[in-house]
Amino acid sequence: MTNVTLVTGDGIGPEIAEAARRCIDATGADIEWDIVEAGADVMQREGTPLPQKTMDSIKKNGIALKAPITTPVGTGFRSINVHLRQTLDLYACLRPCKSYKGVRSRYENIDLVIVRENTEDCYAGIEFEKGKDETEDLINWINSRREKQIRKDSGITIKPISVTGTSRIVRFAFDYARKLGRKKVTSVHKANIMKYSDGLWLDVSRQVAKEYPDIEFEDRIVDNMCMQLIQKPELYDVLVLPNLYGDIISDLCAGLVGGLGVAPGANIGEKGAIFEATHGSAPKYKGQNKVNPTALILSGVLMLRHMDKMAQAERLENAVAAVIAEGKDVTYDMKKNRDDPTAVGTSQMADAIIQKMNR
Ligand code: NAD
Repeated sequence: MTNVTLVTGDGIGPEIAEAARRCIDATGADIEWDIVEAGADVMQREGTPLPQKTMDSIKKNGIALKAPITTPVGTGFRSINVHLRQTLDLYACLRPCKSYKGVRSRYENIDLVIVRENTEDCYAGIEFEKGKDETEDLINWINSRREKQIRKDSGITIKPISVTGTSRIVRFAFDYARKLGRKKVTSVHKANIMKYSDGLWLDVSRQVAKEYPDIEFEDRIVDNMCMQLIQKPELYDVLVLPNLYGDIISDLCAGLVGGLGVAPGANIGEKGAIFEATHGSAPKYKGQNKVNPTALILSGVLMLRHMDKMAQAERLENAVAAVIAEGKDVTYDMKKNRDDPTAVGTSQMADAIIQKMNR
C-alpha cells in the first residue's frame, strides 16, 4: 500500500480528480488516498486557498496527484502552483507529448518528453522595475564596468543559470531517459548569444552527458529547435531546457499532439512530486460532468511510473489509448463536431477506460 495525496482543486478539479482516482484504483495499484482540498472553494470556507492540512499531507506522502486550481486574486499567493513548486523545490517539470490515435492533430507518431528546469532563468523572480532607485543603482554599477551601456529608462530581469541547477536537471533528464528506455537527450540553449548563462548550461550538459554513455546526447540552439520540431519532430526523444525555453517549447509540443486536453505533466524534486494536467480549472464547466479527464488520468500514468508501478501504468495508458482510438465514449472536445450528442460525460469516459482495463 502506498500513500498518495489527492488534491481535488476547484472548478472542474473535483470531477476530473474523481475520474482519475477511479481509473488509477482500477489498475490494482494499491494506493491509499489522502483526499485534500486547495483552491477557491476551500478559500471561501477556511480563508486560505492552501490549508496547512493539504501542505502537510503532500510533505508527508511525497507524492500527490493534483487537479487544477484557479489562481485566486489578492490572497498573498501569486499562484498556489508556483508556491507549491518553490516550497517543495520541485525543480523538474516533466511534460511528455505523445500522439494518440483518434486525437485530432496535424501530426502523427509524436513521442517527445520535455524536461524543463523549474527554478532558475528569467523566471527566478529577480526583477528591477524601471525608475526605481535600486534599478538606477544597478544600471549605474553596470554602466561603470561595461563599455556596452544600459539605457536609464530600462526595466531589468535577471537570468541566473547555475552549475548546481543545470547539472541536477540534466541528470534528471538522463535518469528519466534511462528508466524509460529512451535513446537520446537533446539539450536546448542559446549559447551562441548568452555565453555565460546558456554557455554554462551547454558546458554542464556536455559534462553530465559523459556519465551516460548508453544514451545519445546532442544539443540544439532554441530557434533551430523550434523549426526542427515543426519539420521533423520524429528525430527527437527527450529534450532538456532552461525554464523560459522549456515553457515555450512544452506548449509548442502540446500543440503537436492535439492540445492541452491530452497533455499530462509533473513537477518533481528530491522532497516530493506533484502530478497534474497541463490545463487549468476551466471554471465555466464546473459541476457539469462535461470536460475531458484524459490529461489528469495520463498524469496518473506518469505517477504510477514514478512509483515504479510500470505494469499498472502500461495498463492504464493502453486503456486510455483504446477508448480515444474508438472515439465512442469520449467527451465533447474529442468528437469531430463539438455539439455531437453522442459525446459522454467526464465520469462516463472514466467508466469506459475502467471497462477496457477489466476486459
Ligand atoms: P483552462 O485550461 O482552465 O481553460 C481554457 C479552456 O480550455 C476552457 O474554457 C475549456 O474550453 C478548455 N479546457 C480546459 N481543460 C479542459 C478539459 N479537461 N476538457 C475540455 N476542455 C478543457 O485555462 P484558463 O481559463 O486560462 O485558466 C482557468 C484558471 O486555471 C486560471 O485561474 C488559471 O490560473 C488556472 N490554471 C491552473 C493550472 C494548474 O492548476 N496547474 C494550470 C493552468 C491554469
